Formats: sequence, structure tokens, C-alpha cells
Amino acid sequence: MSTGFTEPAKKHLGQNFLHDRSVIDRIVQAIDPQPGDVVVEIGPGQGALTFPLLKRHGDVTAIEFDRDLHAPLQAAAREHGTLHLIEGDVLGVDFTALAAQRGDARGQIRLAGNLPYNLSSPILFHALDHAAAIRDMHFMLQKEVVERMAAGPGSKVYGRLSVMLQAYCAVTPLFVVPPGAFRPAPKVDSAVVRLVPKPADKIEVADHRAFANVVRAAFGQRRKTLRNALNSVADADAIEAAGLRPDARAEQIEVAGFVRLANLLASA
Ligand code: SAM
Repeated sequence: MSTGFTEPAKKHLGQNFLHDRSVIDRIVQAIDPQPGDVVVEIGPGQGALTFPLLKRHGDVTAIEFDRDLHAPLQAAAREHGTLHLIEGDVLGVDFTALAAQRGDARGQIRLAGNLPYNLSSPILFHALDHAAAIRDMHFMLQKEVVERMAAGPGSKVYGRLSVMLQAYCAVTPLFVVPPGAFRPAPKVDSAVVRLVPKPADKIEVADHRAFANVVRAAFGQRRKTLRNALNSVADADAIEAAGLRPDARAEQIEVAGFVRLANLLASA
């Protein structure tokens, strides 16, 4: 039977299509869409996740950049449910506006997707900018990226991504997926992760920009002491006032320490 998907996978768009049924089922179970939820999928590709989600939930909004996939996706989706296809770049989609227009009773959406790995970090940071509009996210990413997202102080992979995400979200790695679950197979293991944005009253960051600047500077030169790495944004007195040691390195500082320092700088 022809699927209507005739184009070969495009490497520059990070196209590694899932074909392992059990992995697909586990992702749908992890998302566990409930009546009234508004599920938004990033990069539906050839519908590997989209169609099971449609069968289960009846209604999915999906954002796909590849024009060659739009018509076959729409056609193949019809027998499974109602697909609202946004044709374009996910980085140009205003999730806050989408949630206001089409969100659930609380004005929120649920994000999901087997992400194009070359765009993982930009998509994660884009989602963070709209965290209040997002109830949760379930993403397939490179395993190594999921490890960085969930890492804590003292770990070699603890860095900017860990601190920025954990300040705003609970990050829970769910399971690892081997390369053979995809066509073509990527070179690395993948993993599924759940991100749940914290409610506004649980977010300690007072000024997002100040926080982002401190974290970027601290990890920009991760081998340096805080005193040196942060010299353009904070002096040793400020670092000490935030309860941190100027001779410590960024990789030793817990998320709350960066938040204290950024809040102190923002209030000065
Ligand atoms: N969900 C499908 C699956 O699991 O088989 C496809 C996943 S594939 C790893 C990533 C998908 O994201 C591809 O369909 C690709 O065309 C799409 N994509 C790449 N860049 C994108 C962008 N900037 N905006 C939206 N979709 C994008």
C-alpha cells in the first residue's frame, strides 16, 4: 500500500522517522492525553506519532516545516482524526498566542515531538520563553542532551541547559531509545524526557534576562572560577552576598545559587 510519503528522509531537517511500534506506544502512554487537552506536536514527519495520537485523542495540532510532507500528512491523517497542520518553522510559532487561541480550559497546550536533533536546544529555549502557556512537554532527543538537561551540580554534563531548564521546569528522563527504532538510524542513542513547567508562584527567578546572562557568563568559561567567569556581570562582593564562593566553578553551583545571584544583581 502506498503511504503517499515518497520523498527520502532529509538529513538537514533532522529527519529520523520512528518505526518501532513499542516505542511509539510508550511515548503515547507517557503523554496520556486526556479529554480537553490540546496536544501540539513538533515535527510530525510522516505521522509516526501523530496518527496514534489522533486515534487516541481525536484531535492534534502539528507544526511541520517540510513542505513535501504537508499534503501527504493531511491526506493520511483524515482516517485517524482531525489534524490542524501549521505549515512552517516551529521557532516562528508563538506558543503563547496559540494557547490563548486554541488552548485547554486553563489556556494551556501540551507539547510533544520527536525533535529534529539539530534544533533541540533552540526549540527547548523557545519553549521556555512560553513556559506559562505550556502544561507539559514530552520530547525525544539525543540521550546525551537529555542527560545534560537533567544533570545536577558536580556532573561533567551539568551546564547552561541544565540550569536554565531546571529553574523553570521539573525535568524527568523517561526511557532510552536505541538507533534501530528510527529510519534512517541516527548514530547515537536517544531518550524521551518529560518537562513540566513550574507554576508562576514556584519560579524564584525575578528577572529572566538577568538570570540568563549570569548563567551564560558562568558556563561560557566553565573551567574558570566564578570571580573570573562572571567579571563582566558581577564582582566578588556580589557573588559572596549571594552566598557563593568566588573561587568556586559554575559546575559546582546549584540552580538556586544562580537564581540568588541573578535576583541580587537585578535588584541592585
Ligand atoms: N515525528 C516524526 C517521527 O517520529 O517519525 C518525525 C521526527 S523527525 C526526527 C523531525 C521532524 O521535524 C521532521 O519531520 C522534520 O521535517 C521536522 N522539522 C525539522 N525542522 C523543523 C522546524 N524548524 N519546524 C518544524 N518542523 C521541523
